[in-house]
Amino acid sequence: MEQRKGRRLVLFPLPLQGHINPTLDLANILHSKGFSITLIHTNFNSPNPSNYPHFTFHFIQDGLSESQASTNDVVSLLTLLNIKCVEPFKECLRKLVSDNDVSEEPVSCLISDAIFHFTQAVADSLKLPRIVLRTGGASSFVVFAAFPLLREKGYLPIQASRLENQVVELPPLKVKDLPVINTHNPKTLYQLVDNLVNTTKASSGLIWNTFEDLEQSSLASISQQFSLPIFPIGPFHKHNLVCTSPKSSLLAEDQTSISWLNTQPLKSVIYVSFGSLAATSVRDFLEIAWGLANSEHPFLWVVRPGSVLRSEWLEALPSGFLENLSGRGHIVKWAPQQKVLAHQAVGAFWTHNGWNSTLESICEGVPMICLPCFSDQKVNARYVSQVWKVGLQLENGLERGAIEKTITELMREKEGDEIRGRVSKLQEMANNCLEKGGTSYESLESLISHIFSLES
Ligand code: UDP
Repeated sequence: MEQRKGRRLVLFPLPLQGHINPTLDLANILHSKGFSITLIHTNFNSPNPSNYPHFTFHFIQDGLSESQASTNDVVSLLTLLNIKCVEPFKECLRKLVSDNDVSEEPVSCLISDAIFHFTQAVADSLKLPRIVLRTGGASSFVVFAAFPLLREKGYLPIQASRLENQVVELPPLKVKDLPVINTHNPKTLYQLVDNLVNTTKASSGLIWNTFEDLEQSSLASISQQFSLPIFPIGPFHKHNLVCTSPKSSLLAEDQTSISWLNTQPLKSVIYVSFGSLAATSVRDFLEIAWGLANSEHPFLWVVRPGSVLRSEWLEALPSGFLENLSGRGHIVKWAPQQKVLAHQAVGAFWTHNGWNSTLESICEGVPMICLPCFSDQKVNARYVSQVWKVGLQLENGLERGAIEKTITELMREKEGDEIRGRVSKLQEMANNCLEKGGTSYESLESLISHIFSLES
């Protein structure tokens, strides 16, 4: 490890699993480069600080009531957090910055999640530079940045009769791929997106968990539209970190995932997980179950408690479902996903295409079956299936026969072989970009110089 640089960085993650993981990875990367790290975190969804003894944590009272502290309506939750965190965050950051006078480690800048848009005004008021971390992909961000245009042209709000229409301004997207989220008030989504885009433009730089070879044209388009320095330094979780294993899981990882995988043949298993937020109806849950059972492939399936609507966990499964498969299926509440994807028994990932899951799959060379649920997942899935061509997308609803057919196509047919070939190439590029001279390696060096330049 390099000597401490005598500089402190303050990071502020959005308190959702798909944002906490990359923010803590980024913190580890910057710590390994010699910065001291302070994390400000809401009480809601806080990771265990004792897993990060090398960081300083400050917890702020987010003021969410019990009913508000829920991910059932993500847009409402994010909107509320952007209001309720203002004062406690400002107070916490003000103290950290004013300690600069006596501390040997002055705060160089704030690095905050793009969705915490209120932090730009707070940073400005304290005359502290703010760098934005966008934990999603660049391609979906291009679409968020185009929301005003999409509304003007009548693509948004989405009309059921236009779902299959092409968005001619954003190929290869169709109207049904636009990154919307069901919420009781769609205007709050547009407001949130506008705020996130505008305050990103006002920031001092933009960090991406992606790499040039994967999203070159989207990154170029952002560079052109936002006159900001941008730093694609991903995939974060593949950097040579001081602290390698992810310890930021909010749910306990079930290690039987790995012992079960150890008993399965090479590249035979379908790993199924829809991330930390998505939920399914009982009907869809049963179609997934029978599609997997009928595919005759072994499967490792993550079913988060509460993710089947109106069920606690697996009650909706027919009795004896797993027993009748004689060990061919294994269901857990939460898996050590990165280790699972790196396991030699895994042959495909049936995913909701959250950005982290998408990137983690690419990094291990695992082809995907795409079932996006909402927001940027829809854009990611379209890129996986039609731009990078490293997966097959399940479209037109969930039906066991179609699921079985898609699994067979990916695992046993010629198209599957071609997909595997392409994902292996992307995996190689993901590895190469982190080597000395690689794009993400060099971009990280530029980020560090940029942070120092902000002080002058
Ligand atoms: N994850 C995990 N175990 C699981 C399911 C997910 O560790 O059983 C991790 C996964 O590796 C990823 C994150 O949770 O880092 C999910 O983020 P993503 O962006 O894919 O989806 P989100 O949860 O935000 O919808």
